[in-house]
Amino acid sequence: MTLTRRDFSRLAALGAAAHLIPASTHAQSAQKKTGYAVIGLGRIAGHFIAGAHATANSQITALVSGHRDKAEKIAAENNIPASSIYNYENFDQIANNPAVDAVYVALPNSMHAEYTIRAAKAGKHVLCEKPMATSVEDCEKMIAACKAANKKLMIAYRCHYEPTNLRAIKLIRDGDLGQVQTIQSAFGFNIGKGEWRCSKALAGGGPLYDVGIYSLNACRYLTGEEPDRIAAYASTIDHDGRFNEVEENVSWTMHFPSGVVASCSTTYGANMEGYFRVYGSKGWLQVDNAFAYEGLHLRAQLSGKQLDEPNPSHDPSHFQAEANHFSHCIQNNLEPQSPGEEGLRDMQYIAQIYRAAGIKA
Ligand code: NAD
Repeated sequence: MTLTRRDFSRLAALGAAAHLIPASTHAQSAQKKTGYAVIGLGRIAGHFIAGAHATANSQITALVSGHRDKAEKIAAENNIPASSIYNYENFDQIANNPAVDAVYVALPNSMHAEYTIRAAKAGKHVLCEKPMATSVEDCEKMIAACKAANKKLMIAYRCHYEPTNLRAIKLIRDGDLGQVQTIQSAFGFNIGKGEWRCSKALAGGGPLYDVGIYSLNACRYLTGEEPDRIAAYASTIDHDGRFNEVEENVSWTMHFPSGVVASCSTTYGANMEGYFRVYGSKGWLQVDNAFAYEGLHLRAQLSGKQLDEPNPSHDPSHFQAEANHFSHCIQNNLEPQSPGEEGLRDMQYIAQIYRAAGIKA
């Protein structure tokens, strides 16, 4: 994400700061709300449903699930008629549902491409979870399908709409750190047995696809640059059945055209709170819990000032800002700040990291 000062003001005005504005004063409240069909009713879907409800411009109008009982329960809680519950077989009938403007794809990674393409063909805009897909080729097909259908595609990079991450970007862009020299970032967790995330067919790969992508994406939005050289190592230490198909650990370094170097790690073998630290010629900043749903905390030591800024907002504020932004783009025919091309770029770098680490894609 190359975030210029103009982009930053636009974001603050449109989406990222919108959850700070009381609903009653929200300029969009008189407009028809954008209706979303949520595809896949797992963990993240619950956060998104709560986040969309908290906006003034979005609502959940349909559900897509392989589990009818679960879908009926969630539909009842959200005033969704039973006629707007779909399964994976009859999903394409969503084309005939005028209450659905967009879909939110919250399925395992390898299913993102199929449901994005089917949704576009059904005439719906698409908000797709990260990672965008499991291959560069699938990302390209998703972008092409949405373009052909003249529908918008946004990748759910919620940190692009999150105030503490935006504050870190602004401090860097404003020159408060001087010349950025180096970045460190990591994110990981100790995964349980039996997770689809450990299936190569469903996940595409290991922790890099799932959580390492946050560090990768952060280094891009913090520098506003695209890496031009990548080196990487991967390893599996625990042979307990979890890592038969995907690797346990990945560490990689990136060189950016300005000379900034970044060093990142991800793991499925240890609990590793997400963070980034940025070191510049005039000072440093760090964000702890940088990729969590709440509890983000920015600290910085810059020439002449020290910052200590805990973010008091609570889940589902990230999802609220994200839904608000995409609905605003749909309602005003604007390009989302994190379009399909942003997801594609990360997928290209993930492929490079894998090649550098000697992992067969
Ligand atoms: P989850 O396992 O909790 O939910 C996945 C859903 O997909 C379930 O409802 C499951 O029933 C359904 N499903 C359909 N076919 C399936 C199949 N063949 N195998 C397994 N499940 C199947 O997963 P989740 O944590 O909600 O992740 C879903 C997506 O959201 C992933 O792409 C993940 O990377 C992304 N995610 C994003 C964030 C974020 O903060 N943006 C956080 C967590 C997950």
